[in-house]
Amino acid sequence: MPRMVQMVWYKNAIIYSVNVESYMDGNGDGIGDFKGLARRLDHIHGIGVGAIWLLPFQSSPRQDHGYDVSDYYSVDPRFGTLGDFVEFTDQCAQRGIRVMMDLVFNHTSDQHPWFQESRSSPDNPKRDWYMWSKEKPENIHEGMVFPGKQEAVWTYDKKARAWYFHRFHKFQPDLNMKNPEVQAEILRIMGFWLRLGVSGFRLDAVPFIIATDEHEEAGGTEREFALLRKMREFSQFRDGDSVLLAEANVKPEASIEYFGPSAERLHMMFNFWVNPRIFYAFATGDAGPLKEGLEKTREIPQSSQWAQFLRNHDELDLSRLTEEQRQKVYDEMAPDEGMRVFDRGIRRRLGPMLKGDQRRIKAANSLLMSLPGTPVLRYGDEIGMGENLDLEGRTAIRTPMQWDEHGQGGFTTAEEACIPLIEHGPYGFHEVNVSQQRRDPESLLNWFERIIRLRQELPEIGYGAFRIIETEPEILAMCHEWEGSAILTVHNFDGQPRQVEFRINEDEQEKPPLINLLSNDHVQPQADGMYRFVIDPYGYNWFRCGATSVGLARKD
Ligand code: MG
Repeated sequence: MPRMVQMVWYKNAIIYSVNVESYMDGNGDGIGDFKGLARRLDHIHGIGVGAIWLLPFQSSPRQDHGYDVSDYYSVDPRFGTLGDFVEFTDQCAQRGIRVMMDLVFNHTSDQHPWFQESRSSPDNPKRDWYMWSKEKPENIHEGMVFPGKQEAVWTYDKKARAWYFHRFHKFQPDLNMKNPEVQAEILRIMGFWLRLGVSGFRLDAVPFIIATDEHEEAGGTEREFALLRKMREFSQFRDGDSVLLAEANVKPEASIEYFGPSAERLHMMFNFWVNPRIFYAFATGDAGPLKEGLEKTREIPQSSQWAQFLRNHDELDLSRLTEEQRQKVYDEMAPDEGMRVFDRGIRRRLGPMLKGDQRRIKAANSLLMSLPGTPVLRYGDEIGMGENLDLEGRTAIRTPMQWDEHGQGGFTTAEEACIPLIEHGPYGFHEVNVSQQRRDPESLLNWFERIIRLRQELPEIGYGAFRIIETEPEILAMCHEWEGSAILTVHNFDGQPRQVEFRINEDEQEKPPLINLLSNDHVQPQADGMYRFVIDPYGYNWFRCGATSVGLARKD
């Protein structure tokens, strides 16, 4: 396919996930805000980030970290004003950074005026914007998103004299997506934010948005996919290069329906199939299931893209592993019950899960940068932040960014922060912060800047096709090919040095030297067409297959 068609920004950008509330406080009230975030854009720009994904910042009672919106057309006053928001998007544009935002359409807050109207009377025009039942529905305890923290999915409302459906918490009533007025309102909301400088949306809980039956589990078959196409057409019509990125933890076979058979629905999806298998590989040293996961998610339309990630703001969801695999990850990375949540995952940050081992942290992030797809980084991972398990649920992994060793870690000038900073221990802000790492050439932060620059110089990974090269079970070797040039990345999941031995091409005549892109240890092919070298414990190698370290000339 001609190059022009392939050049879409989301295939070679690094996405950086930010929670406004916990990034930087600009007005000294202890709460992160858009003014503060705008002031830290040079940090984000310096790492090499191409797009910022903002977690929910719209007005909300914040009973679920803002995933309970009470006004879609606003900025939560705690974070600033719409004016501050536009200043922020403008500052991003000046640096060539795009802005993506979370949109939560599966449900609203029960405080949203729509819900208040809906419950007020059966004749209210908003009544049908939510899902009501006069009779007590059956199976009200099935299909909950937060098992252990949630009692039911239907709750009786005295004022409405009816039961309302809520897949999530009871303060998050589900919108009735089948209602054309609700669909039209959703498009209006997207149009509003596109006008204010947003380049794309991270759509929350997509399988539930398009479910046709409220009792159906995620990953079921009956879906209203037409809505996704409508959303894409609308947003691209308003802004040609806007992007939809979906949170949809579905099986690989189902993903194609989300992308659309002709790539007419979602541009990107988080790869929830590969993610837990990365952690399994680090927990056990066995890269087998990860290789299978990569193979299973290989076939997607050409313009579609996976978003690859290590950790995000939610629990590390292990529900897609077998029970035995899950137990091995728990044993290694979350040995205490208090580190786990919802019977399916781990509420920890990357650094502590890898026991603070810098080799493993770098290997994991090097792997992230080399996976087929677009890497999504979580704020704080660039300095190796930890979690605070004393905080409730997933707040443990949502603590404020650690900028320096003073006061409140440079996050706020107030005496207290809205979410307590991590103060003590090896992950406290005295030990782990941006300011110290900026001064240290060997720091994780500076390492990140280098690896991201490398990744951005290698469009083979974001745009190209990949193959897994057959080698030892502890090793993942991938060859990414695009427009006549090839990149080979090799990762060792074992704590021992390993002898690596592989063949890149079946044709013994085609055996280019491997030019190391991170050191001077280049690898020459041997007479039998094999490549042999020793890789460090948790080592990672990036090679260009060819005579020089810059790309080969195009063959066509
Ligand atoms: Mg503030």
